Amino acid sequence: MAYEIALGTFHGDWYAAADIYRNWAAKQPFTSRKLAQRSDIPKWLLQPLVGVTFPMRGQADWDPPAAVNPEYTPATNALPYMDKLAKAFNTPLLPIVFNWEHSGPWVQPEAFPPVGGEAAMKKFMKIAKDKGWHPVLYGNGINWVVGQRNTGYNGMEHYKTHGGDSAIARSWNGTLMGGAEGGWRKLYPTCVYTQPARKMILGMTQGMAKLGPEVIQQFDQGVGAVHCYATDHGHPPVPGPWMSEAFASLLKLDNEAARSQNPNAVVSCEGAPPEVYLQEFQFWDARIGGGGSLNCALFAYIYHEYMPAHSGAYLNSVNDEALRASVARAIVKGYMLNFTLRDKGQIEFDWNHIWDRAIPDQQAILDWSKRATHFRNGVARDFLVYGQMQQPFTITGVPTRDYGYGPEPLIQSETWKAPDGRFGVAMANYSDNKRGLRLELPGQGTKNIVIHIDDESETRSVTLPYVVDMQLPSRSLGLVEIK
Ligand SMILES: [Zn+2]
Repeated sequence: MAYEIALGTFHGDWYAAADIYRNWAAKQPFTSRKLAQRSDIPKWLLQPLVGVTFPMRGQADWDPPAAVNPEYTPATNALPYMDKLAKAFNTPLLPIVFNWEHSGPWVQPEAFPPVGGEAAMKKFMKIAKDKGWHPVLYGNGINWVVGQRNTGYNGMEHYKTHGGDSAIARSWNGTLMGGAEGGWRKLYPTCVYTQPARKMILGMTQGMAKLGPEVIQQFDQGVGAVHCYATDHGHPPVPGPWMSEAFASLLKLDNEAARSQNPNAVVSCEGAPPEVYLQEFQFWDARIGGGGSLNCALFAYIYHEYMPAHSGAYLNSVNDEALRASVARAIVKGYMLNFTLRDKGQIEFDWNHIWDRAIPDQQAILDWSKRATHFRNGVARDFLVYGQMQQPFTITGVPTRDYGYGPEPLIQSETWKAPDGRFGVAMANYSDNKRGLRLELPGQGTKNIVIHIDDESETRSVTLPYVVDMQLPSRSLGLVEIK
């Protein structure tokens, strides 16, 4: 190893472990600039914004025959639905176009021209940008996709005539990695050290840039090189530092390709990026926006001050309350909201299910999302947009419910520290009942605290430590701020 490793023990939970790590990370070169100092992060990304994802064909990634959705194809057909949503959220949109690729959902590099034609896609991008929105296209990372069951696509001829096997990462016994049969797509992870792989990936980004989106997410499905044992690629035939060197040089070129048509284009990635690339991406797609691993928002805890995120496409919602819970979790953890759409521009419970499920109560989720986004960018802005998550202050008295990830409180909350040192506790009661809670504020001395509930505020002069007994109405947002 070319670097030192420290091993030790500690007392406490994941927050305590993350604090130890964050203290180290804050001294590293990749944390040299926080959000406010990052000139590559456009202002719009730190303003009210909601992501809206719609599939041009098919209802999910995998459902054959991937029939075209005339409501969203050409993409300009989606605009009237987007208009309604922008009005309901009272924010600009981050429209994310899914299943646009010519040969089938998530096929690269044979993705062009897009579904609905190049001219219509360019027109959609232009109109969306003219409305003050920020349209997004996703690529497929470092993968070479050679089959898609939805459309019956077989890309082997293109693959063979463009370097194919010579671009793919090899396992220890020399066989090609990937290529599994039976799934909805067949793909090979490329070795980013090889020229055919780099050409394929950069060509995909270049092609997307020409369509005129404002955001490009080429590095979908994770950021970084995969290990490769090939003896004829030119790198050492084992995993090693060459992987990050090769990926860093590819990322530099890819960002140039993404900005080849629009120097202000923004680059995002799926999932938390390796921290060494923290300053190379402008935001990240947290992917699992509703639960599961988001319940431990480790990356956001350590790095939210440096890079924003939206909550992703997998809301994991089983009913209306769980859908509102996904909004509550995302908001108190500092994420922008994102939803996927089913037919007629309607918000669905979750991405990647066919549209035979019940339709969520649209009015309810639009209203809750609008108010949550207003909260994030209003009284809670210094905490949830620019702040640093903290070990939580103690909250008691909140009942729990289980949506499939274990019992969770019906009032989601996190404790934050604003850049000016103020502490704040953000709370979201997404349930159908008014609920009481007790919040314990630590510290000492006389302080002003401000209790915000929706748009009402009350200031108290208190001596810390202090206990706040609060009543949060059904579907309300609260913030307790220590001035
Ligand atoms: Zn290789």
